[in-house]
Amino acid sequence: MVDELLRTAHDRYEGHDEGAVADYIPALARANPEWFGLSLVGVTGTVHEVGDAEVAFTIQSISKAFVFALACAAVGHERVHERVGVNNTGLAFNSVVAVELNGGSPMNPMVNAGAIATTALLPGADAAERWAHLQDGLSRFAGRSLEIDDEVYLSESETNHRNRAIAQLLQSYNRLDGDPAETVDVYTRQCSLSVTAHDLAVMGATLADGGVNPLTGEQVVSAEVCRDTLSVLASCGLYERSGEWLFEIGLPAKSGVSGGMVAISPGKGAVGAFSPLLDGAGNSVRAQRACAYLSRALGLNLFASARWSASQNGAA
Ligand code: GLU
Repeated sequence: MVDELLRTAHDRYEGHDEGAVADYIPALARANPEWFGLSLVGVTGTVHEVGDAEVAFTIQSISKAFVFALACAAVGHERVHERVGVNNTGLAFNSVVAVELNGGSPMNPMVNAGAIATTALLPGADAAERWAHLQDGLSRFAGRSLEIDDEVYLSESETNHRNRAIAQLLQSYNRLDGDPAETVDVYTRQCSLSVTAHDLAVMGATLADGGVNPLTGEQVVSAEVCRDTLSVLASCGLYERSGEWLFEIGLPAKSGVSGGMVAISPGKGAVGAFSPLLDGAGNSVRAQRACAYLSRALGLNLFASARWSASQNGAA
């Protein structure tokens, strides 16, 4: 049944061609707008896929979810809350104004300012150690060794003036320890890790499974860290469209500007989706529609409410 639902979602939306491929990072503009892959991984380790589920792309903003989890694991709930914040800013992913409006607090760990501040919290004596911790942690979530796409990394490194400005602004508000340029470099590397829709589904399913990767059996983070991460994904995962997403779909999710998306059903599993055409906020159009369809078809909305007595079948 799940294979059939994935196939239906793919058939339904593959012809939808609204949106645009991100081109503010020059290497991303080379993505094929036709690509469309879906993968669903259950907490029991079941895997279902359709379309371009094995096409590689850079993880971009979706890394923020998993780096947030690593930071929570390393420095704890309170420190992340106080240093980064956990609220949606309602502004674009690369907004500088959002930092100014909030007295220097990045507020939202799922957009660039908050993610840069989060990356700076990772343990390590220097940037190289922080990077090693990050790459190792995200690889454990995926259950395989994740590597950098050098072309995208170099392309973003040459053009990320805005992220460097954001990091310096955060430093001016004492929100960033260490060297801002080095932290932005680690952040740019994390965004350049190469993944597939399948990897995203495994990573999401690990968050759904109390922190245990359902394919490798490894405990990557604690169940408490998963809870904290999923709550932030619910309020902040789709940029300034997060409220609409939660209202319509009712699942924690995260998207990124290369067209990836992961939607998580706690205790059940996750969908990884990939298609490069984006809406105005930076969310993949086909990925959102496919996840929405699957969430509805599988009854995954976390806020679905049903009368208690209706579920008892008159058994009282
Ligand atoms: N590396 C991208 C940037 O910093 C990530 C943006 C995103 O996916 O939201 O601009």
